[in-house]
Amino acid sequence: MKVYKFGGASVKDGAGIKNLVKIISVESENLVVVVSAFGKTTNALERVLKSWLSGDDVYITLLDEIYTSHRSVINELFTGTTVVTGKLDISFAILKEKMYSEKRQDYDYAYDQVVSYGEIWSTIIVAEYLKTHVPGVEWIDIRGTLLTDDRFRDANILWSESTKRVRGIFDFNKKKIYVTQGFIGGTAAGETTTLGREGSDYTAAILANILDAESVVVWKDVPGILNADPKWLTDAVKLDEISYREAVEMTFSGAKVIHPKTIKPLHNKNIPMHVRSFLLPDESGTVIKADVTIKHLLPVFVKKEDQILISILPNDFSFVMGDNLSHIFHSFMAHGIKVNIVEASAVSIDVCVDDERSRVDALIGDLKSEFSAVYNENVEMLSVRHYTQEAIERITAGREILLEQRTRSTGRFVVRKN
Ligand code: ASP
Ligand code: MG
Repeated sequence: MKVYKFGGASVKDGAGIKNLVKIISVESENLVVVVSAFGKTTNALERVLKSWLSGDDVYITLLDEIYTSHRSVINELFTGTTVVTGKLDISFAILKEKMYSEKRQDYDYAYDQVVSYGEIWSTIIVAEYLKTHVPGVEWIDIRGTLLTDDRFRDANILWSESTKRVRGIFDFNKKKIYVTQGFIGGTAAGETTTLGREGSDYTAAILANILDAESVVVWKDVPGILNADPKWLTDAVKLDEISYREAVEMTFSGAKVIHPKTIKPLHNKNIPMHVRSFLLPDESGTVIKADVTIKHLLPVFVKKEDQILISILPNDFSFVMGDNLSHIFHSFMAHGIKVNIVEASAVSIDVCVDDERSRVDALIGDLKSEFSAVYNENVEMLSVRHYTQEAIERITAGREILLEQRTRSTGRFVVRKN
């Protein structure tokens, strides 16, 4: 079997869903089809949540707008009466009732209870439409199958319980195509969780791992993985194949093509992932796999925006290595701050992290009794894999470099934002 994943851009309207059906109907293998929320629905639901949590009633209007856009997709796809309208209405009614009657709670918890609906609605519509074109289709509510802990908004998969349930539910002796949600899961107690923004790729990889898929195909609005973001470097070119290692390094450096957690479950079972264009489904795209035959490696450019560079110094002028180091990194972990670069000297350490100000302030507050910390905000991290001097100059020319690090394969530069 294979896993197909369709992101929001591929299912933003009726035409997108018709295209999805076209792509699926020429596939002869058994399929799990993982679908994201339509278009920008996740962002819209984040606005609904903000409004609801702040206590105003605008959330009702915002929710009605989302409902209307889903209804118009249904109108594009179905003629006459269809069960899908009733299913959508019930689901919206449940969410509305919850928001109307429940207390406005903790942000991360409420986030998962509200924002997860985007995937429920999209998959209901896609599955019903698919059923009118191909036989053997089943819709699965993944929340009872993919089990996670209760770290809301960034939940961790509970692998052994999920494996049991997934293998029980996705049974290809019964059906040929299972349509399910990306991005969301559920706790053992039945609460909905999410896996982090853009997490549907990760869902596809998890299901592929558990079901020993032959491959995963991520259908996107780009021809594959390019050696730079074409909005940044207009002469970016497509890479035909890259290794798991390369893909992990690219996503860690900030490449947004796939979710960073996606690679590990695939690597562990040696399952290739194809990134292909849903607009050009006959093209081969990029394949991420173990053995890559292309030896000559092009420079790959990655930019990570919205960074903070923090310098930490022990107050008593002791060496930073040793006990201090483990204490400092323990605090970063405890505050859930992701470290992107570390550079240590005798009595100070520089760390570049994502700009999540409230977390950084809390960290600095915690360290205050033993360390002093200063930071530069408004910086970004530029990385060049397989660099040449020319490639480095191309992206750093005229930029103020605050920190620079080179390994044999990668050059990284923390620069002030232009
Ligand atoms: N709909 C979710 C998001 O936009 C998950 C995904 O698209 O992968 O973040
Ligand atoms: Mg999305």
